Amino acid sequence: MNAPVTLSSTYVLGDVDADTPVYGRVDNATWQACEEVIGRLEGRPDGATLFASGMAAISATMAQVPAGGLVVLPLAAYNTTHSLADTLSEQGRLRTVRVDVADTGAVQQLLVAEPVAMLWLESPTNPLLEIVDVEACAALGRAAGALVVVDNTFATPLLQQPLSLGADVVVHSVTKYLAGHSDVVLGATVAANAGLAERLRRHRTLHGAIPGPWEAWLALRGIRTLAVRLDRAQASAEVLASRLADHPAVTRVRHPSLPDDPGHQRARAQMRGFGAVVSIELADADAADAVSRAVRLWVAATSLGGVESTLERRRRHANEPVAVPESLLRLSVGVEDVEDLWADLDAALRSVR
Ligand code: PLP
Repeated sequence: MNAPVTLSSTYVLGDVDADTPVYGRVDNATWQACEEVIGRLEGRPDGATLFASGMAAISATMAQVPAGGLVVLPLAAYNTTHSLADTLSEQGRLRTVRVDVADTGAVQQLLVAEPVAMLWLESPTNPLLEIVDVEACAALGRAAGALVVVDNTFATPLLQQPLSLGADVVVHSVTKYLAGHSDVVLGATVAANAGLAERLRRHRTLHGAIPGPWEAWLALRGIRTLAVRLDRAQASAEVLASRLADHPAVTRVRHPSLPDDPGHQRARAQMRGFGAVVSIELADADAADAVSRAVRLWVAATSLGGVESTLERRRRHANEPVAVPESLLRLSVGVEDVEDLWADLDAALRSVR
């Protein structure tokens, strides 16, 4: 039933068929098994490349920008994606510009203003949960000659397949929902065409940010239950979001399931579910920190997408984009009983009012 964990740095020459790797930095049978699954999930069976982390996948993708090329990024997205782009910009490797990616008109204006090498999208964005019109933005980006990238970590391929909406590359932090058990750090790219997939694989071989076979195996094991974990977690997220919207300690709830959320209609049209991350804003940063300390079932921890529910005040990170409010708590809803989750959160929120 299971692809074995292949632990070998080298392979006996002459004793192998054409598909067997020759060296462990170039390829590995357990990676291949995991890549096939992720590739199939994103609609490109041969398009996936596994990396040592989500950031290694992101770094390999940004490396596709020609020297001095302009990269368009969301105003707020995963903080280390921003830090990487800023570092590459300080080094003179590329240039960056930020735009409100939920505003398709603003994206269009930027794309016609000057040549853009890469359009970097996240949807839903981390942690503001804004919904990008991926199809419209991808069409605009490609028409402008840009490589269109979508970080699909929050949605997972079960909720949306950006390549079918016109993106060139999907990146994943497999660490999150795909692996799903807070025990693996892993990343992946999935490319829309063979040439791009080959360039990303070559980058991995040359730069050496290779995954471990055990991590690939654990991800395969996690992906088997992705659908049931996500179904449960996002059903609970909807219940919690609607109750939090009426909570006296909460000033704003961000979740695309809410009918008055700015991304609601777009998410309904584009996604097969609203996802299991909910962001809330409180009176101030102190209140958010106090909630993080008061919870007993929820775990105050970074990261997301595991079976355990976690929460974190994102602005505690120095590199969090300033567009993220100081009081914002990002909740990653896991698979625990929703009433237990509500009781714990409600009690923690009441204790700081
Ligand atoms: N993309 C998103 C949306 C993330 O939330 C993260 C990590 O939090 C990453 C990428 C980076 O992935 P990794 O931590 O696996 O390097």
